[in-house]
Amino acid sequence: MTVERIGDRRQDGMSETGMSDTGMSRDAPSGRAAPIDASPTRMSSPRKLHVKSYGCQMNVYDSHRMADLLATEGFVETGSPEEADLIILNTCHIREKAAEKVYSELGRMRKLCQAAARDGRRVTVAVAGCVAQAEGEEIIRRAPVVDLVVGPQSYHRLPALLARATRDGRAVDTEFPAEDKFDFLAPPSREAIRGRGVASFITVQEGCDKFCTFCVVPYTRGAEVSRPVDRILGEVERLAASGVREVTLIGQNVNAYHGQGPDGTMWTLGRLLRRSAEIPGIARLRYTTSHPRDIDASLVAAHRDVAALMPLLHLPVQSGSDRILAAMNRRHTAADYLAAVGRMRAARPDLALSSDFIVGFPGETEEDFRETLRIVDEVGFCSAFSFKYSPRPGTPAAIRADQVPEIVKTERLRRLQAAIEHHQKAFNAGCLGATFDVLLEKPGRHPGQLVGRSPYLQPVQVMAPPSLIGEVVAVTVTRVGPNSLHGTRAASADHARSAEPVSTAAGA
Ligand code: SAM
Ligand code: SF4
Repeated sequence: MTVERIGDRRQDGMSETGMSDTGMSRDAPSGRAAPIDASPTRMSSPRKLHVKSYGCQMNVYDSHRMADLLATEGFVETGSPEEADLIILNTCHIREKAAEKVYSELGRMRKLCQAAARDGRRVTVAVAGCVAQAEGEEIIRRAPVVDLVVGPQSYHRLPALLARATRDGRAVDTEFPAEDKFDFLAPPSREAIRGRGVASFITVQEGCDKFCTFCVVPYTRGAEVSRPVDRILGEVERLAASGVREVTLIGQNVNAYHGQGPDGTMWTLGRLLRRSAEIPGIARLRYTTSHPRDIDASLVAAHRDVAALMPLLHLPVQSGSDRILAAMNRRHTAADYLAAVGRMRAARPDLALSSDFIVGFPGETEEDFRETLRIVDEVGFCSAFSFKYSPRPGTPAAIRADQVPEIVKTERLRRLQAAIEHHQKAFNAGCLGATFDVLLEKPGRHPGQLVGRSPYLQPVQVMAPPSLIGEVVAVTVTRVGPNSLHGTRAASADHARSAEPVSTAAGA
């Protein structure tokens, strides 16, 4: 699977199928589907699947689940689109640039399908995810190379949709089905889990009821739904049994989680994290993305009590101006945000914060923008994503008359990113000499080197044997590079929790 995060500029500086059974072939000049014979011989050979994932971690998770489901249909994954029989683009609709990227990729797919057709191969192209949900049939009209369109709540129906595309030439499913897709999805094999590394995502909550005026998520992902506790814990156990050491619980509004527990009561995210930490093999827990309004006492207490819960909180604020926050329908003020941060920091003094920002929301004045710069200085984020406001069809903010000119958005984004970078650099510089627990994930760039992640998600390069992949080791930071920390293994990991990087906040 390949992953592309679109339009985001993460300010952390440390970062980071001739599918024979469709019975169709492609008419080479147009890339359009035309019937072919699905011979049993071709069907018995393993078919290859390439999934390209755009956007957020939820899409990465969904892409894995699609691959797991299609594995039961005989598909094996390939990293190369050129050799695939089925190509799935799992798309993101959050900003205009994200959706446009999909259409330019479909242009490339058309050429790839034509080349395959010249070799007598048939490639099926599917568009999944939020662009599929938002645009439906229109995708096939605009890009006839596409055989199948499936929304994020219907991808458990992929095998049936592939059969329908075979029969009818194309298939579109953008429903919000009554059934829960998670009940129909195949679990990953041990090999698939191992191939995906020692850190994994699990979707625990989907959809959103908050309706921020700039955001398409409530329309593309639907209403907020939490998965039951026992399903999530079962998934964490399965991952841990196959060597996963770090799990990130994900959701559009993950801290609004309210899933049914085995005892029949509704569990909060705090309680779910507490219980997940008890699963043997799980060394680290994270969660994302949180909303400032949904930070409750159980989550604060989990940060205080659960050592496996990493001291990094991604808490989008979007703007520092109360006027703009109200217009965005965020339903909190800048002071509420700072109070939530204060409660979390009191519970976990070594907590670092990251965030999301939007500049140039309709009506944003220079004074509003300065309030955003003020909150950056006040919190001292260790990293952040920052975006120019992108009008999304069907959202209330998109039809406002007071849109901010592009040139102003560009200039504000530059100033905001400079401010974020300043704090991020200070945060990273403060790590020099500190000793952290590092989860070693994979070989590094140089021989004998491994790369892992600090508690703050910074990549850390360290000399260590491959046998230590999947282990948490203590590393003392000896050098701070532009994209990663470098360190040497320390005697023990005991002091890792006491390593408190400098706060970069104003007045700290
Ligand atoms: N649920 C999370 C929250 O409440 O902050 C955010 C989820 S959204 C998928 C990720 C980020 O994309 C948002 O925090 C916001 O900064 C950005 N975003 C969403 N809609 C946008 C738009 N129309 N233009 C620019 N950025 C946008
Ligand atoms: Fe979008 Fe997050 Fe607002 Fe929901 S809370 S509408 S996902 S930005």
